[in-house]
Amino acid sequence: MKVPFLELRPAHDELRAELDAAYTRVAEGGWYVLGAEVEAFEQEFAAYCGATHGIGVSNGLDALVLLLRALDIGPGAEVIVPANTFIATWLGVTHAGATPVPVEPDERTHNLDPARLAAAITPKTRAILPVHLYGQPADMDPILDLAARHGLLVIEDAAQAQGARYRGRRTGSLGLAAGFSFYPGKNLGALGDAGGVVTSDADLADRLRTLRNYGSRVKYHSDVIGMNARLDELQAAFLRVKLAYLDTWNARRARIAQRYLEALRDVPGLVLPHVPAWAEPVWHLFVIRSTRRDALQAHLQREGVGTQIHYPVPPHRAGAYADLAGLPPLPLTERLAAEVLSLPMGPHLADDAVEHVIQAIHRFA
Ligand SMILES: *Cc1c(COP(=O)(O)O)cnc(C)c1O
Repeated sequence: MKVPFLELRPAHDELRAELDAAYTRVAEGGWYVLGAEVEAFEQEFAAYCGATHGIGVSNGLDALVLLLRALDIGPGAEVIVPANTFIATWLGVTHAGATPVPVEPDERTHNLDPARLAAAITPKTRAILPVHLYGQPADMDPILDLAARHGLLVIEDAAQAQGARYRGRRTGSLGLAAGFSFYPGKNLGALGDAGGVVTSDADLADRLRTLRNYGSRVKYHSDVIGMNARLDELQAAFLRVKLAYLDTWNARRARIAQRYLEALRDVPGLVLPHVPAWAEPVWHLFVIRSTRRDALQAHLQREGVGTQIHYPVPPHRAGAYADLAGLPPLPLTERLAAEVLSLPMGPHLADDAVEHVIQAIHRFA
């Protein structure tokens, strides 16, 4: 039996009729950029997150860049980021002209450790950018408290966490604003690149709409140096179809995660994901740890099970950041990078495939 790490095609097969109808509606509507579909998706997704405004943009990285630029966080400013994240979190800060300042994770959740935050704050710090990694919400209350005491903004990188809840509240409504990615492999994914910001700050939303569209509020009048970083009508129409299925698909991911957690509990040498009482994760990824990670991955490959490593090279070890000065040692992040392994996970992963993964892991142990 072959179990690929992730297949996107089944989602398309399930929704084919609705996606085809969305395509036809847009194609025949004759309006392809910033129209009714983008506006409707923005409202629907913001409401889903418990926020007031949505701004559709080109991708998740641009969402972060635009957000920081809209907040005037640029050269000379520092933004606290998780050391343990996908590099796009850091790139967002760098492209805005600011400096990413990494903080080590909590070893059990892999997310930003609030206890280590205070030590990273300097007079240049403007914002904290927590990531809800793997679809697990970060511990936001202590982050928000500390930020309030130091006059810092809190922006969520919610790219992996569409629908996740922290103490009953959806990610995207926990800080001042949140950046989302709708890359095809995310829990809510387009049929190409797409992203968005949600916020309940009307001014900020207005600045973002301007910045994503050449800095122009009125056509051919540009007041600020903007970008072309818009969400397409077609992708917005597809996302509206898929948004209606997000909760059902996230619930299926949660059932798979539950099964993995039960069935792998007693496997020696494995560290399973830890879910704090206040978290309702959406299992973008199911990430285990093993000190024999590479051997386990090779074994699973031989058993037909596809896995991936998120992420093998932490941002501070990437060539892109070889020149970044003043980095603290980040031993925990490096240890995680050497030990993490993502198992197959997705809303269309069948029960017998899940059992095959479980049995294959038991055979390794
Ligand atoms: C995917 C992702 C991004 C970037 O989103 P793109 O749409 O791929 O640009 C940013 N941050 C995190 C944590 C991500 O997983």
